[in-house]
Amino acid sequence: MKVPPGISANDFAEAIKQFEEAVGKEWVFTSDEDVAMYRDAYSPFMGEPDELVASAAVAPDGVEQVQKVVRIANHYKVPIYPVSTGKNLGYGGSAPVLSGSVVLDLKRMNRILEVNERNAFALVEPGVSYFDLYRYIQEKGLKLWVDVPDPGWGSPIGNALDRGGGYLMPQYRNHFDSHCGMEVVLANGEILRTGMGALPGAQTWQQYKSGFGPWIDGMFSQSNFGVVTKMGFWLMPEPDAYLSGTVVVPRHDDLIPLVNILNYLENTRVTNGMPDLGSPLLGIPMLSEFVARFDQGSTPFERPQDPELPAMIAKAGGEASPELDEYAQRKRIGYWNCKLSFYGAAKANAANWAFAKEKFSAIPGVKFEEGESYKLPLTPEQREKVHKPQFGIPSLSMFSIGARSAMNPEPASGHMWFSPIIPRTGEAIFEANRVFAQAAKEFRLPFLNFNLPSTYWERSFIFIFAFPVLRDVEANKKNRESFKRLIKVAADHGWGEYRTPPAFQDAIMNTYSFNNHALLHFHETVKDAIDPNGILSAGRYGIWPKHVREAKS
Ligand SMILES: Cc1cc2nc3c(=O)[nH]c(=O)nc-3n(C[C@H](O)[C@H](O)[C@H](O)COP(=O)(O)OP(=O)(O)OC[C@H]3O[C@@H](n4cnc5c(N)ncnc54)[C@H](O)[C@@H]3O)c2cc1C
Repeated sequence: MKVPPGISANDFAEAIKQFEEAVGKEWVFTSDEDVAMYRDAYSPFMGEPDELVASAAVAPDGVEQVQKVVRIANHYKVPIYPVSTGKNLGYGGSAPVLSGSVVLDLKRMNRILEVNERNAFALVEPGVSYFDLYRYIQEKGLKLWVDVPDPGWGSPIGNALDRGGGYLMPQYRNHFDSHCGMEVVLANGEILRTGMGALPGAQTWQQYKSGFGPWIDGMFSQSNFGVVTKMGFWLMPEPDAYLSGTVVVPRHDDLIPLVNILNYLENTRVTNGMPDLGSPLLGIPMLSEFVARFDQGSTPFERPQDPELPAMIAKAGGEASPELDEYAQRKRIGYWNCKLSFYGAAKANAANWAFAKEKFSAIPGVKFEEGESYKLPLTPEQREKVHKPQFGIPSLSMFSIGARSAMNPEPASGHMWFSPIIPRTGEAIFEANRVFAQAAKEFRLPFLNFNLPSTYWERSFIFIFAFPVLRDVEANKKNRESFKRLIKVAADHGWGEYRTPPAFQDAIMNTYSFNNHALLHFHETVKDAIDPNGILSAGRYGIWPKHVREAKS
């Protein structure tokens, strides 16, 4: 059995014995076979001594048991790493940031404490998965939707604490933003409730976020300040109908007004689903087209077949080219397209789409394509045709992207995402492509073609580049190096990552360096005050306990 760093074998054995007394012997895992379950299947250190691994795992069944485990860990200074459902693939899985930590596996705490249809919220424990919550709502016949990420086996709490996102209306898509109230066990074993939850007998814990005084909820996301044992989430009342329509524009520079008008329509809630950008001319599918391709047997996305086109695209190199503009118009192929989604009353959706068309008509040559129109809930046949998360339905079908298929004949073993945030403008998309294409050429990275960002967040774009993780130590080393160089390139242009696997958390935190790293110093001050032994998730998001910082310096 691996022993956590800095702990004697005797102390660790004693701590394990006490964990067993606290939660039951069968819920403390120490065998190699059991502990291997907590390895990160997408680890970029696979096959290397630096792979981040747990020493053991302990699975409490309730908040009192969490308190006991935390107190024991604090006494013996054993580092522990809480996970909810532990499915954070692409961003670290359930492996701890400090190798040798004990994973605090909260999957057994899977109680749905309340779902309130009238006020559209839920209060859940960490082990509740999106599938669990969805099933509960379906079984009870409640008219509520959960905003789910692509993999439905994750949890509202784990996903929100890593600041993940989904696909419904903007006020639900950012999963941390759509939470309301939390319960947290601190490193000394004390319980804290945030927001209105601090008021004993509070009647609005899940209905008013900020409570009274400083609003501290954000400090428990992407951090290591506490173990979250309950969290509330606002749910989306089931809409009456869904409508989609696609805007198609003919020229390269039309992306600029396309984004400006889109922002106006989204910020005024004329369109309230997640916008979906693509380029028929460049062969970049919209997410909905991409997903549909996978669901229908993974056939490659069809690109315009004209042999002269690839040369023209290569020559333009992502820049405006009169030749390409002329080609797109002559062949009547859209340069860019953007699918808009509308949730609401059928009449309102139609009126909003009509208004959106009016606004986009300011772009000369714009065309509109009518999309799907559904009365909700979907029929079983309709469900099979759609990208399920866009209708609040959890699924795992996104994993087919990583499987062997016609579109992906030589799949990697996993991936790690480089995901910088850029401004929500067409100009920023062009600029980011220039910068990343140059970097990709220099570092020999696979994403040389023009890329379009995702629109999860309301006020910014996010680029998501998948770096492959391979069963090849040298290739992984090279990719890690390139990833780090890309972090620097992005930061030099004012673009920071929103989330990252443990391998890069220090490097990224290091780029958030305004005023001599004032923000990190603040985090460290808080960490030292509330977790002086540094037992909770040491190193998560670059926040290391004092003893580790001192040992490093
Ligand atoms: C193909 C694919 C598609 C994906 N699509 C999406 C997507 O659409 N949207 C998206 O957001 N993500 C996506 N992901 C990333 C990831 O799989 C999900 O975000 C997933 O929900 C995270 O796992 P989880 O919910 O089990 O969280 P966990 O793994 O349980 O938690 C994540 C981290 O948060 C911390 N944490 C968790 N629970 C607690 C707690 N109770 N107290 C204190 N700290 C805690 C831990 O550090 C933990 O490592 C995708 C991944 C893949 C492979």
